[in-house]
Amino acid sequence: IDVGRGGWSLLLGQLTKQASRILEKFADARSGNLPDGRQSTEDWLKGYTSNATVHALFRNLCAAIFACNAAELPARAFLTYFTSKGAFKKFGFCPQGTIGVWNSLGTAIKRNGDIWLGTPATTIHTANGKVEGVTVLRNGEKVRIDTDLVVSNAGPKATVALAGSEAFPADYIARVNNDLRPAANIVINVASREPLINHPGIVTFGKTRRLCNMANLSATCPELAPPDWHLYVAYAVPVPALGDFDSDAEVALALEDLREQFANFDQTKILSIRVMRDDWPAQRSCAGYDLPRETGIEGLWCVGDAVKQYGNGGTQACAETAKIVSDAILAARPRRSAGRV
Ligand SMILES: Cc1cc2nc3c(=O)[nH]c(=O)nc-3n(C[C@H](O)[C@H](O)[C@H](O)COP(=O)(O)OP(=O)(O)OC[C@H]3O[C@@H](n4cnc5c(N)ncnc54)[C@H](O)[C@@H]3O)c2cc1C
Repeated sequence: IDVGRGGWSLLLGQLTKQASRILEKFADARSGNLPDGRQSTEDWLKGYTSNATVHALFRNLCAAIFACNAAELPARAFLTYFTSKGAFKKFGFCPQGTIGVWNSLGTAIKRNGDIWLGTPATTIHTANGKVEGVTVLRNGEKVRIDTDLVVSNAGPKATVALAGSEAFPADYIARVNNDLRPAANIVINVASREPLINHPGIVTFGKTRRLCNMANLSATCPELAPPDWHLYVAYAVPVPALGDFDSDAEVALALEDLREQFANFDQTKILSIRVMRDDWPAQRSCAGYDLPRETGIEGLWCVGDAVKQYGNGGTQACAETAKIVSDAILAARPRRSAGRV
């Protein structure tokens, strides 16, 4: 169902008599009339329907897109995403895997410069509210790079740790400590001799405990699996996703869902189960809980999944933050020579 092309009415119309009321609210949102950021998506939806399947669908859309539950996501962020952001209007996966996207970008960067992989930053140097350089660990040796510009996608928390909290304004540190809401995700990679689903792309589930969506990778990219095997990745979101939870219990509930959804699940081979949480989550901050890209230190910027535009999510949102920051930097600095950025 293409939610960008009237799919919502097709979907909701079959489930609840209140579909038109909900769709009206989507139309309102499109013209800028949005609930305030405090009401959750679940509470907002309760105002229009108590239909359990509709609630399950909204929960699983929140989970699939934002890695959180409907009770945790502001309705304002949900509606912003579906009315003015990506909203799965175009969705794809790279045939070479996610690394393929970055390798293409890397090729472009190398035309003008260099990339050092496996080179962790150990310190960001600052003085008098300005960034002065970075020390990195390269081939086991510390190398200091003097620069008045540092753009970090390690997340605000890691960036503060690298520069030292005393270097930042107190209000920024308070926001890093209090406002970030890392969103968790459970990733289950599954190989199967028998097909589990035939649709290519990603399927979002209805009534489940924790399972929210599953991608049929080998339907689009058969080269990812040996002959006669199918490769899937299933995603589950714990309850709560923005707070502490019992990883083992949540994984067990996700597996229970998979067994319930697929009668032939027991013949599959589970390749891996990873719980992405805390400092290595699905999103460093859930939509609606983003920090500014400015850090309060001149020349030091954050980009990535904790500093997104309101209501945006995923890698598209991260790329957008990079563009916004690059544009701001270029606007403030005259180009050194034509053709070089
Ligand atoms: C399981 C899972 C599934 C997802 N599925 C999707 C999806 O289908 N679609 C979608 O759009 N988004 C998806 N996301 C979200 C998306 O992957 C992230 O939001 C995005 O990758 C974040 O990009 P980023 O650049 O902010 O951070 P990252 O991609 O995490 O990059 C930050 C980098 O900084 C590095 N780093 C940290 N500390 C240092 C240091 N001191 N020195 C040097 N480097 C350092 C890290 O190693 C890392 O490589 C998914 C996320 C997860 C976990």
